[in-house]
Amino acid sequence: MEKIGIMGGTFDPIHFGHLSLAEAVRCELDLDKIIFIPAGEPPHKEAENLGSTEDRYNMTLLGCRDNPFFEVSRIELDREGLSYSVDTVRALKELYPEGTEFYFILGADSLMDLEKWREPKLLLSLCSFAAVARPGFKNKKTEAQIKKLEEKFNADIKYIESSKLDISSTDIRRRIAAGKSVKYNVPETVIKYIEEKELYGFKPEFYPEVRGFKKKLKLELKPSRYIHTLGVADEAVRLAEKHGEDKHKAYIAGLLHDCAKNFDRERTFKFCDEYGVSLDKILREQPDLIHSFLGAAAAEREYGVKDRDVLNAICYHTTGRPGMSPLEEIVYIADMTEPNRTHYEGLDKIRELSYYNLKEAVSEALNQTINFNKEKGRIVHPLSIEAFEYYKKYLREEII
Ligand code: ATP
Ligand code: MG
Repeated sequence: MEKIGIMGGTFDPIHFGHLSLAEAVRCELDLDKIIFIPAGEPPHKEAENLGSTEDRYNMTLLGCRDNPFFEVSRIELDREGLSYSVDTVRALKELYPEGTEFYFILGADSLMDLEKWREPKLLLSLCSFAAVARPGFKNKKTEAQIKKLEEKFNADIKYIESSKLDISSTDIRRRIAAGKSVKYNVPETVIKYIEEKELYGFKPEFYPEVRGFKKKLKLELKPSRYIHTLGVADEAVRLAEKHGEDKHKAYIAGLLHDCAKNFDRERTFKFCDEYGVSLDKILREQPDLIHSFLGAAAAEREYGVKDRDVLNAICYHTTGRPGMSPLEEIVYIADMTEPNRTHYEGLDKIRELSYYNLKEAVSEALNQTINFNKEKGRIVHPLSIEAFEYYKKYLREEII
């Protein structure tokens, strides 16, 4: 007959405390598998700052993915109303053949609370229990509680030694909200999920490399340019969010798009030479455009950016080019529409378009830029003209 561990919890988020506890119990009791059961609406937890049920479920799946003995059940999530362990155990017992042995796994803190749970006597009679220590709970106290419950309810509770990891979801949520690292407390895949969905108050500016980038940019850029840069990074994230693109990349590209903007003349020419940015006739006549191409090279060499898409977004943020990637389009637009930009005619139109159709926004922005430069008697970079032709055609064909 199968021996199955039941690992209930809020998993908000799942962390290595949960995972190592489950693994210790599995090995110690020789269990066939452990079922992780994220709580639906936990009856004894304050409701604020909880991740959504779907997020907790997804994170639990990610956390359990690389252990073939772990599975995740939606049994409590799909049940209406409050979920009580006693109902869950009863429901599970109906799903499995008679004689299947169940072990309900608990940390010491939960064990101390158990008498306050719904129908503790019935719950303790339904299956065996496996309890593990947790930092802050003395082994002796835990053992005494086990003894008490065994005597009072005739329960079967096994005490399992496991490494006491001082990790809790509460602490993890606090750390994330404060921009601190939770690496080595939470599986990498779960961290990625939290960052991507910005759970628990995570903001892209918390990415570890961002702090270094900002420090350097603050030294390199004029104050107003630095403020514009932060605005572009934030606006790029908003657009990435709206259009389902990678917010991390959008933030980094936005942050670095003007990293070469305030290089002086000497440095500009020296680095163009060093980094292999060729200064053609147009760039010589329009030195304002150099910073985009040079910026991409500087982002790669001086900031260590390797992602091609991010580098291209920096490279083409002033001229645009035909067939830009969504990230390139986002940075191109964010540069024009970020909230600190002084207002100009046509800005609102681009901004409005950008929230529902990036390509239309790009087409409009290119059109305005080309006309503006022509009016000023400046030469227009051929990439911008090609880009405008491309987007016009693209939108025409899409309509047909
Ligand atoms: P929160 O801080 O939000 O209460 P948590 O870290 O306590 O979260 P839960 O989802 O409440 O996590 O815990 C599920 C189960 O795992 C409980 O039985 C709890 O006692 C146990 N547990 C959680 N973290 C640890 C840990 N570090 N060591 C041992 N047991 C743990
Ligand atoms: Mg807890």
